Amino acid sequence: MPELPEVETIRRGLEGRAVGRQIVDTEVCHPRPVRRTSAHHLIEGSVGATISGLKRRGKYLIIVLDSGHEIMIHLRMSGQIIAAARRESRPRHTHVAFILDDGQELWFIDPRTFGEVVAFDPLQLETTIPELAGLGPEPDQISLAELRRILRTRRRQIKALLLDQTVIAGLGNIYGDEILHWARVRPDRRSNSLSPLSERRLHTAIGAVIANAIAAGGSTLGDGQYVDVSGASGSFQHAHRVYGRAGQRCLTCGRGWIRRVVIAQRSSHFCPVCQR
Ligand SMILES: [Zn+2]
Repeated sequence: MPELPEVETIRRGLEGRAVGRQIVDTEVCHPRPVRRTSAHHLIEGSVGATISGLKRRGKYLIIVLDSGHEIMIHLRMSGQIIAAARRESRPRHTHVAFILDDGQELWFIDPRTFGEVVAFDPLQLETTIPELAGLGPEPDQISLAELRRILRTRRRQIKALLLDQTVIAGLGNIYGDEILHWARVRPDRRSNSLSPLSERRLHTAIGAVIANAIAAGGSTLGDGQYVDVSGASGSFQHAHRVYGRAGQRCLTCGRGWIRRVVIAQRSSHFCPVCQR
């Protein structure tokens, strides 16, 4: 599932290709991505408008239109956004296509159909997309004092807390595991049990892991599912220290063996030697 670094990589790719382009037509080929509203609603809300910017909040990509409306895209499990020339044939599972005035098309491809494409009025955000309105702060915007307040006022397992989008936006299973390894904190520790030093390390780790992952273009796992708008893979998977490495020797200490535990119904990976 794409997380903040993957969505940010897509945002940057689209920014260079789509800003200033008019959407001359929108084709909806499957009802699932527009289930929150309707195909008609997306077409009405997009055709004729010019793309004036690309934003991101957490794992949500937002296309800003000169009409004052916006289009939210969430990739969920298997969504992809590809920018291609109009003459190219669309791959299977292309459920939405935005046709631009310069001969490009933006494809929303989603085999498992959990993703969404929704045109909305930003003034109505809280009623149309309440979970977007209710997101916690961006990981790179959070101060140490704010993180400390979040950690100390809750006693949930730290990994579950990091995955909660209303607490911090954009982190998922991969980056949650890598951040906790960097911070040397076990994923099952209670958030209010961290030492002041561990809190500081966690704050640094959140910023560092996310920045490094964005610089590497995100993580493309063995399923090859995540790609950027040109279809290229990310490379941060080569820098993973714990995620997906259960049973293997720890790359950091060389002594521990990576363990896998289930927290908040998700697999967590950690080194019992490095992480306490
Ligand atoms: Zn280790």
